[in-house]
Amino acid sequence: MFLIEFYAENHYASIISFIFTFDFARSGNVLSLNLARAYQRGEKFRVSVNYRGNPQDGGFGAFTFNTHNGAPIIASLSEPYYARLWWPCKDTPVDKADSVQIDLTVPDNLTAVSNGKLESVRSLSGWKTFSWKTRYPITTYLVSVAVSNYAEFGETFTFLDGTRMPLVHYVYPERLGDAQFQLADTPDMLEFFNRAFGDYPFKKEKYGHAQFAWGGGMEHQTITSLGGFSDGLVSHELAHQWFGDLITMKSWQDIWLNEGFASYGEALFVEDRFDKAAYRNYMSRMDHPYSGSVFVRDTTSVGSIFNTTVYHKGAWVLHTLRHVIGDATFFSCCAATSLIRVIALAAPRPMISKISRNKFPARSLAGFSSNGCIAKGVRSCFTDGNKRARN
Ligand SMILES: [Zn+2]
Repeated sequence: MFLIEFYAENHYASIISFIFTFDFARSGNVLSLNLARAYQRGEKFRVSVNYRGNPQDGGFGAFTFNTHNGAPIIASLSEPYYARLWWPCKDTPVDKADSVQIDLTVPDNLTAVSNGKLESVRSLSGWKTFSWKTRYPITTYLVSVAVSNYAEFGETFTFLDGTRMPLVHYVYPERLGDAQFQLADTPDMLEFFNRAFGDYPFKKEKYGHAQFAWGGGMEHQTITSLGGFSDGLVSHELAHQWFGDLITMKSWQDIWLNEGFASYGEALFVEDRFDKAAYRNYMSRMDHPYSGSVFVRDTTSVGSIFNTTVYHKGAWVLHTLRHVIGDATFFSCCAATSLIRVIALAAPRPMISKISRNKFPARSLAGFSSNGCIAKGVRSCFTDGNKRARN
């Protein structure tokens, strides 16, 4: 059985072509295909779904139509499980697509932005079709659409190995000066996270920002959507490209692995840019009475999944782990993206869909109980019970 989910109301879907013979049936929001025979792992078959309809809003605003300064802004924000409101997909973070192509046809005074590389722009009778393609594995909630009368600016970022990559920003024209000023730190952030976490995972394509109408940011793979341009927001979403996008939690119950690392990434950038005192001050702002565990038991709504505990306590779990294992080990693990492996090994169940093959250096984790961090207050994670970590 092969299941494709989509929002059924006001939508039309049919399977228009296939190489092998399938039965298919539609039940509510699920299109199910009965394969004619058992397929081996890795064996390929082709299914095409012809689909049309009006995108729906849901969650944080799965697919929204707004305006800014009289111009349209159309954007997606599918996290956690609302991609199905605007395209048929296997809507689970467990099974990434190996690549995605997105063709967007818009009035020719607008620019359509999406994941990966812009392969072509075709004009026809007052319309333009922007064809974007990413060849990196990607999960459904990170597939992005952003359309507006964008002003575009950017530069070329050069990695230490000489690889050159576009760093490009699409912003509202009335915010261009503001954006150029505030986003000027982006190359420094990229350089820092390359140093801390290893090379940017999508360096053969691009990194960029697309302004949208939502207040915060969303770490769409290779093209973060931004409602503002503060360093905290920009560094948070950039850190997600490693923790969330490259490495993705298996279940929404483990969202703290995304949000804890991204929030901690904000503090790490502050430490790199300024000093330890600024870092500690930043961490102290994320120290407040947390309610409950970073492990999310109720994943039925965005409100219950994306609580401050998963962000701020999640960051404190990592701050604490760094204190326990020391800077050298901590950062060598970050560069190998092995820290999640450590936490996952200590956790009661598998937490992530992709982990590094790199082994965690054999070193004592005495006193650090990730189960304790997850189940109890962050202070219970310290070796001596009560003392605050001071890196
Ligand atoms: Zn985040």
